[in-house]
Amino acid sequence: MLKIDSYSLGPLQTNAYLLTNEETGKAIIIDPGMNPGALIKKIENLEIEAILLTHAHFDHMGGVDEIRKLKGCPVYLHDLESDWLTSPKLNGSLMWSQVSQPLSTDPAEYDLAGGQQLDLIGHQFACYHTPGHSPGSVSFLCGDHLFSGDVLFKLGVGRTDLHGGRERDLFDSIHNTLFTFKDEVKVYPGHGPRTTIGYERSNNPYV
Ligand SMILES: [Zn+2]
Ligand SMILES: [Zn+2]
Repeated sequence: MLKIDSYSLGPLQTNAYLLTNEETGKAIIIDPGMNPGALIKKIENLEIEAILLTHAHFDHMGGVDEIRKLKGCPVYLHDLESDWLTSPKLNGSLMWSQVSQPLSTDPAEYDLAGGQQLDLIGHQFACYHTPGHSPGSVSFLCGDHLFSGDVLFKLGVGRTDLHGGRERDLFDSIHNTLFTFKDEVKVYPGHGPRTTIGYERSNNPYV
């Protein structure tokens, strides 16, 4: 059984997702954001197999340094953002100085690309390249669970005015990738509540 817990972390209330295989006690974390104390408490007795990043904005990678050092787990990030973890300018923490220190950590251990299949904690995770909010944004599909980062929200979409963002790419990603999934697919976004592909297809005013 795959257990999915979410934690709203940091000043931008970024969703970190902890996915645990309850039989084995192995887990992965998607987007460990800033001030990850509550999450760190929860993973004390878990083996963390990987940290997956939907993209490298500071509010999604703010907890990477602490958790990676604590657990010795590798980080996966799309190669178009391979130099963002080391750069407060690229990851946005420099610009958002009112809510963040300049953040940096070592580069990711593994590059992601669209079309890749990851075999983690006994489950398959398909990686889809879904740029627009940022150039290396990806979404992860595991069974009927879609982790969409800052691409698609409940009744919203990601902003495209940050470094490397592009509005046309964002809408292409939503229409040509995310909206090819079944209505029943559950969406776990980077901010705000969960939704489904079907609900967004029918109700999202932006798409
Ligand atoms: Zn973002
Ligand atoms: Zn975000």
